[in-house]
Amino acid sequence: MENLTLKELVVATNGRLMMGKEGAFVNDVVIDSRKAKENSLFVAIVGENLDGHDFIEAAYKNGCKTFIKNESVSIKLNSSDINLIEVKNTEIALGDIAKYYKEKFEIPFIGVTGSVGKTTTRDMVYGVLSAKFNTLKNEGNLNNQLGVPLTLFTLKSSHECAVIEMGMSGFNEIEYLSNIVNPKIGVISNVGLSHIENLGSQEGILKAKMEITTNFDSSSILIVNGDDKFLSTIKGKEYDYTLKTFGFNTDNDIYCKDYIMEEESINFTCVINGEKQEIFIPTVGKHNIYNAMAAILVGMSLNLTLDEIKEGLKNFKATKMRLDILKNDNITIINDAYNASPDSMDAALKILGRYKNRRVAILGDMFEMGEHAEYGHRLVGKSSIDNVDILITIGNDSKFISEEAKNLGLNPESVYHFNTKEDAINKLDDLIQNKDVVLIKASRGMKLEKIVEYLNEQL
Ligand code: ATP
Ligand code: MG
Repeated sequence: MENLTLKELVVATNGRLMMGKEGAFVNDVVIDSRKAKENSLFVAIVGENLDGHDFIEAAYKNGCKTFIKNESVSIKLNSSDINLIEVKNTEIALGDIAKYYKEKFEIPFIGVTGSVGKTTTRDMVYGVLSAKFNTLKNEGNLNNQLGVPLTLFTLKSSHECAVIEMGMSGFNEIEYLSNIVNPKIGVISNVGLSHIENLGSQEGILKAKMEITTNFDSSSILIVNGDDKFLSTIKGKEYDYTLKTFGFNTDNDIYCKDYIMEEESINFTCVINGEKQEIFIPTVGKHNIYNAMAAILVGMSLNLTLDEIKEGLKNFKATKMRLDILKNDNITIINDAYNASPDSMDAALKILGRYKNRRVAILGDMFEMGEHAEYGHRLVGKSSIDNVDILITIGNDSKFISEEAKNLGLNPESVYHFNTKEDAINKLDDLIQNKDVVLIKASRGMKLEKIVEYLNEQL
């Protein structure tokens, strides 16, 4: 991070300077006291479980001298050599500083949101843009009101563009992030069922994703999946920004005409400006053709040549636990244990479905589905019937997956349900055979990577 002076921090946060040295500056912003160093700014965030104000002392012991705290909290520090700013709300202050800092960089910012596929799309956009530009992207899944500002603080003068994943679980969150990032290009991967608990309906989810256009003007570009049932409803209307769509339907600006899926890669034909282009991506799953097309449109919007775009997609690297294909001598594991929603379950099951060997799906609960939980899990049951030979479900709601699969004709003797992953692990040696292809997928909280570890070690 480039230096920020104490004066700039006060201006950015509209805060009150309580203690401070003339000429003080920071070159790093942290919210975790363990990461605090000599020239860090430690912002005390009040979290669900922990209060950052309790860690100011620890940050100080690590050499940190500059702090931002809530005005409602009083702290005791037996030292006079610190810089202290007081604000109404430290979380908002973190965003305000990020916005201030970000505005020093006159480079294109691309925001990526959507129900599923944000990280993958972001990584593909990163792959494409890196063919030409020194590009910044969020680490891992740092995509919320804390992660996005922390990402922006890693901007350096050498960066030429930035692709920022933006997550949300309710209304006004993408608006909040868009006000900080101010993206010139926005991408919406799709509108699924994630977080429907908070948003009421898929129309609500669409509305929340569209908040990415909050600060758009005539030079801005919105890139969306034009085949998506909800996103397709925005096509053909007048906007004060440019709308570009991708998909398989020929009414999209660019569309996939056909594709050949190998076990670990895809070649597809994409029609761009009326011409057929052959594209290679080193990953599987039809959904990744969509993600790649989003990246192609971003590349075109920033004037990359088609050769650069193709080269960039070849170099795409997925973030861990998202359709990670692991092979040992006995079995193939498709580790998709990172997260799950009905849409991403369906996508992953279709990938499993393509294998010739015996196909085993180990699926766990999908969280945050509220009253739609039973329906959503039953949808996955339906998706599984054509794509699995053995179905193993783990958890509470996932019993609806196995129940629905059996209702729809999957052989009951090939369907197993366990309440916990420990119960499942005890039986895995009997259930999994040599040469099986095993898909593992559930919501993050289910931590099914334990099953991946077990299978990797035992078999
Ligand atoms: P999170 O909300 O946790 O940040 P995300 O939106 O970033 O999730 P990814 O991590 O990219 O999503 O992908 C999660 C899973 O969703 C992938 O492993 C894959 O199975 C599936 N997926 C990725 N892209 C799509 C897509 N365009 N459509 C449907 N499923 C997808
Ligand atoms: Mg993500």
